[in-house]
Parts: sequence; C-alpha cells; structure tokens
Amino acid sequence: MMAVAHILGFPRIGAKRELKFALEKYWRGDISQEALLDVARTVEETAWQAQQGLDLLTVGDFTFYDHILDTSSLLGVIPSRFNHPQGEEVSLDTYFRVARGRAPTGEDAPASEMTKWFDTNYHYIVPEISKNQAFTLSSQKLFDTVKRATAYVARNAKDNNEPQAVKAVLVGPLTWLKLSAIKGETFSKLTLVPALIEAYRTILVKLAESGADWIQIDEPILALDLSEEWRAAFTTVYEALAAVSDRLILTTYFDEIGDNLNTVKTLPVAGLHIDAVRGDLDSVASAWPNDKILSVGLVDGRNIWANDLAKSLTILEPLAKQWGDQLWVGSSSSLLHVPVDLNAEEKLDAEIRSWLAFGIQKIAEIEVLTQGLNQGREAVSDALAKASAIQVSRETSTRIHNSAVAKRIADIRPEDAKRNDPFTVRAALQAAKFQLPLFPTTTIGSFPQTGDIRQTRLQYRLGGISEAEYKTAIQAQIQYAIEEQEKLGLDVLVHGEAERNDMVEYFGENLDGFAFTQFGWVQSYGSRCVKPPIIYGDVARPKAITVEWIQYAQSLTNLPVKGMLTGPVTILSWSFPRDDESDETTAYQIALALRDEVQDLEAAGVHIIQIDEPAIRELLPLRKARQAAYLEWAERAFRLSSSGVAPTTQIHTHMCYSNFNEIIHSIANLDADVITIETSRSHMKLLDVFREFQYPNDIGPGVYDIHSPRIPTTQEIETLIERATEYLPKERIWINPDCGLKTRGWDEVREALNHLVAATKSLRQKYQAQ
Ligand code: GLN
Ligand code: ZN
Repeated sequence: MMAVAHILGFPRIGAKRELKFALEKYWRGDISQEALLDVARTVEETAWQAQQGLDLLTVGDFTFYDHILDTSSLLGVIPSRFNHPQGEEVSLDTYFRVARGRAPTGEDAPASEMTKWFDTNYHYIVPEISKNQAFTLSSQKLFDTVKRATAYVARNAKDNNEPQAVKAVLVGPLTWLKLSAIKGETFSKLTLVPALIEAYRTILVKLAESGADWIQIDEPILALDLSEEWRAAFTTVYEALAAVSDRLILTTYFDEIGDNLNTVKTLPVAGLHIDAVRGDLDSVASAWPNDKILSVGLVDGRNIWANDLAKSLTILEPLAKQWGDQLWVGSSSSLLHVPVDLNAEEKLDAEIRSWLAFGIQKIAEIEVLTQGLNQGREAVSDALAKASAIQVSRETSTRIHNSAVAKRIADIRPEDAKRNDPFTVRAALQAAKFQLPLFPTTTIGSFPQTGDIRQTRLQYRLGGISEAEYKTAIQAQIQYAIEEQEKLGLDVLVHGEAERNDMVEYFGENLDGFAFTQFGWVQSYGSRCVKPPIIYGDVARPKAITVEWIQYAQSLTNLPVKGMLTGPVTILSWSFPRDDESDETTAYQIALALRDEVQDLEAAGVHIIQIDEPAIRELLPLRKARQAAYLEWAERAFRLSSSGVAPTTQIHTHMCYSNFNEIIHSIANLDADVITIETSRSHMKLLDVFREFQYPNDIGPGVYDIHSPRIPTTQEIETLIERATEYLPKERIWINPDCGLKTRGWDEVREALNHLVAATKSLRQKYQAQ
C-alpha cells in the first residue's frame, strides 16, 4: 500500500513577486519578451523544485496572467475585437491585450471583464462566447510545459529510480463554459458541449503524447448548485473524454460536492479529488468506488494555519486501508491562494510564526502525511509531535483569547444592531442639519497616493522621520486635499486617506489580534498581489484609530467632512481568518471595535461617517442553502458597527466591483443612510434591479470609472445621472465616482471631478427650474 502525495497547484507569481515585476517591466516596454520568458521559466521551475518530495509533479498551472484566460487561448476563444486570426497560435501580446486592453505591441481594445474566482479574492478573465462558437486549439503553451516537465523529471530522476510522474492541470470544459459570458444573441451554453468535447478530446490526446501521466481536470463548479441539465452534461462530457483518456482526475474544491455526488460517482474517470477541508469527505468516501483513485485534499489551500497532522492521519488511515495505493493525499485546492514560503518571514513574531504554514510548508505537511500512511506513524513521530505541540500552543497561548472581548460579544443585545429611528425620521433630521443641495456630491475616500505620500509613510516606517514630522507631512496632505475639494465645489469632503497604505492593513495594524507578514503576497489578478493580514486572536481596539486625522480635516473647513472606516466584513474577508473561531464571531469582534471608533468620531464632531464594505459579497457561501445565514450575520456585523450613533449622524457605506443585484435586499438591510456604489463600468446595469426593488435609502451610483485612465466628459456624466433618475427618486440620489481615487493622478482627478460637479450643477438647474 502506497498513498500518493501531490498538490493541485502552486503560487505562480514567485516568492518575491518576480513574475509581477517582470510583467510590469515588459508591459512598460523596459524588457524584451525573451527576458520575461526567462523569469517566467525560473518561477515555474522553482515551483517544480518545491514539489521534489511529492510523488507527482503538478504542472501547467503556471500562467502569465490567469489560468482561465490560458484555457480560452488554448481553445482559441479570443474576442473578435482583438483581430486574432482564427486557428493561429495566440501570441503573448494578444493574450495580454485580452487581459489588459493593451500590450507593448498591437492595437489597444477594451479588455475582457474580470471577476472573482468562486469565493476567493483571485480574479479571472471572463471568457466571451457567442452562438455557434468554434473551438480551435490555438496555444501550445500547455503541451510545451508538459514536454519540458517530462524532460525535467527524467533529468532529476536518481539513478535507477523512476522519474516523478507528471500531472498536467487543465480547467474542465464545463467549468470554463459555466464561467463564460455570452456576447451577442443569447443561446443555451450547453449547445456548445459537443464542440467542446471535440476540442478537449484533442487536448487530452496531445497531453498524453506530450508525456502527461495524469490529467487533473478542474471542475470546481461541482461545488455549486447545478441544474439537472448541467449535471447531465457532466455525464455526457466525461463519458466522451474517458473514451480517450483513462488518466483523468476529476477535481473539485472550495465546497462540498453535495447533491452533485449522485452524478459524480457514476462518471467513468480514473479518480476524484475533493476538498476535505470544506467538503463532505464522509459521503464521498462511502459513495466513491475503492478501485478508483480518491484524492483527499486535507491540507488547506485557502488558509495559512499549520495542519494538525495527527488528526489528519486519523482521518486518512481508515481511507488508506480501503483505497491502498489508490489513495492520494493533497492540498484542498491549488496553493495559489496562500503565500509561498514562511521561511522568508524574519520579522514575524516567533510564537505566531510557529502556528503557520505557507505553500512550501504545506507541501512538507503533505509529505509527512503520506509518509505516515506508508511507513506508519513512528516514521514521522517527530513531525507529528511538533504539529501537536503547535496545536497545544495555540490553544493555550495567552495572546489569543481576551475575556473582555468575549464578554462584550456575549452581551450584545438585538437593539445594538439597529438604529433607534427609521430612515425616514433620520433623513428628515439629517436634511435639516446638513442642508445639502439636490444631488449632493462626494468622493469615496482616497485621493491620489502620490510618490510623495508613499515616501512619507515609508520614511516613517523605517524611522527616517520622527512622529511629529510624519504628522506634519500627513496634515499637509490633508490640507491639500481639503483645499482642492473646496475649489472643486464638492459638498461632502473627505480627508483623502494619505495615512493609509491599504484599507484593511491600516485598520489591522491598529487593532489587537492581527499579525502582518513581509512577503505574504497572494495573487489577486494578473500582476496584482495582496498581502492579507492574519487574524490570530480576539479583536479589540486599544485606542482611537482615525479620529485625529478626520478631526484635523474638519477643522480646516466649514463643509462637512466624512469620516472613513473599513467595515467589519471587508476586514474579515480580506484577511486570513482564524480557524479556531467562527467568521461570524470574528466579524462581530471587529464590528464592536469599529462601533467604538464610530462613536469616538461622532463625539469629535464628525457627523458623516462612511463604513466601506466592498467585500460583503465575497464571503457569500457558494451554496444557496447557506447564503441566508451568512447574509444575516454580515448585515448584523455592519449594523453593530454603525448603529451606536444619534439619528442626526449620517452613516454612509460603499461597495464596488461585484455583482450586488442578487443581494440588494441585504444591502438595503444594512440601513446605511447613504450608499455609494459602483455602476459606471457596467453602464449602470446595476440600476436594473431598482425596477423591481425600491431601494429605500439614499444612493450614489458611481458616475466616474476610476479604474480607467479615461476622463468622462460632463455630458457623459449628465447622461448617467439622467439614467439614474429614471430608476431612483431624484431627492435620494448622490453624485460620486465609482471608488476611491488613490490609483489616479491629481491632474486627471481634478479634471474628472470638475466635470462631475459641472454635470451636477447643470442638472440641479434643470430640475429645480421644473
Ligand atoms: N474608502 C476607500 C477608498 O476610497 C474605498 C476603497 C474600496 O472601495 N476598495 O480608497
Ligand atoms: Zn470601491
């Protein structure tokens, strides 16, 4: 009996973000394509070296931008505006143009849309398909990789030893299809199944010819609620594919297979991988045949806590008895969602560090688990003892539990999560107090993060300037932002967020229970990475965080300044959460800390306060049956943070870059007095929802797409506002950009906001004259 060790994929950006830097240089025209390819191969090969101790070498997951876009290129699905000659190899620059709208060569064209990969913070490029879509293999990349990998394992095989088996990763046809967007005339996606089957049969044959021993075919949509038609398509597709390959490992992750299991268990594939961290191991184990491969993903690909190895072995040992050498042990998902190597973290507190495992460490955990199964626990007794000691250390550490926090959570009363007065009463009081004009104008919080600002923060962090010097420098930035806004003629001002590196990190750094890494980067999209904080303990606020800055801003102007906070659900969802506490409880802990901040702002004379929740949709469970429970606690967390104020204090929230239509009721339940929400990129598609649903409170649909360098004209903005008035009562409408302005330059921001104010003024005249 020999269990097999593998992973589903490795981070693609490089431990020090080597690929990111090379990509950005290439896009700027600073390095050649050859130089970019060199870096890419090194990053890829480093990932292969990391897998040395595993039985399988997983390859083909490396990507220059996104693995879904790789699949679209493989299938030859390139939108026609990129003028790609059908059937020809998709060049790297065409590929980059689809992702980003531009590349060092070729004509610019609007990039394809990008959206979140299931419930992760990774974004993929949405494939665009049309009726009678043809598929022509148009990328050699995957086959070339497999060939290189085959040579690599042969080269590295020790004398007389078998080379490591090569497993190629391939996005499954049904997941690719499900995630695609229909362009032009609508049709049923499943009509493309026969053509896709043909394409995939060719791919599978070519993969085998290239030397792939196994094919990991990823179908994470099996973790979603699927209709009968889609389930039936799984049967059709996999019967056809199994006819050309007996090496298919059907792979699912991020949630349980649940009611798709009846279909899955009959599919004629060689093996099945499941996410045993989030999934239903017991039901799969009782349904899946013992003579087929069962791959159990027990090492968490989504979080950074060290595995409780002894506990995992207890789960795996009975499976090993049943499946023998057909048992594979792996990561729950690709490791692309965790940082590369904990060993790089030299500044992290030693105790906290001992609790963690990043990509490299997770591979070592998988090796230990397999060795424990294959050679018995004695063979890995040291590693098991160490892992158990880590669990004990976490359970008993004095840094995790805070009895005052626990007591506050226990003492939450229902009325704490509810404003005392209904919106109509509050709105009247606030109107009297703020005397804002029709269509009040505001921004989302941040102003351009200039080199100057970044330099100031860096200097301060490195100890190059004193606290007093830092304060003076930031105050000067605040003053600049306030003066500019007054000149522009905006109605509700912001301080500009110059003191913030990142909207989550900034709050985490000022709260108990958070830890930060130096190199804990995780790919968000393309070359963009985020460095999520780690929530390891109970969250509390030792002292006020933002009050001093906002108060200073308010002291400079007679116009209202809006205080700016990041909401509890967003802080939670953009961090690595605890695994020893529920997300719900952690969200309430953060909410209570923010509630104190909100009340301190109010006491300091800041009477408009925005609590951003752009990530509220991100933690939405994949399965519908669990969504209502999540939304209920997410709403409660927001309201806990925002409800401790007088009716005259105006609470704003902000959301962006997600499809909010399906959770619009929950957004209304937040009961914020004003919501500013992204719409301009989707041409106000969001507004459609207001035909059926009357949004009760004030709303500012974004009229300036801040993610584009394009400056909207006054006329364009007027048109967008007019559109909004068709859907929303005009006295409820606010005028604002889509999102914060920190990534833009002052010149363009000034011009765009000038247009925004001009458009607003002209419409005020028009409507007030009526
Ligand atoms: N207040 C934040 C800003 O303006 C909001 C950012 C966001 O929504 N992602 O930068
Ligand atoms: Zn935003």
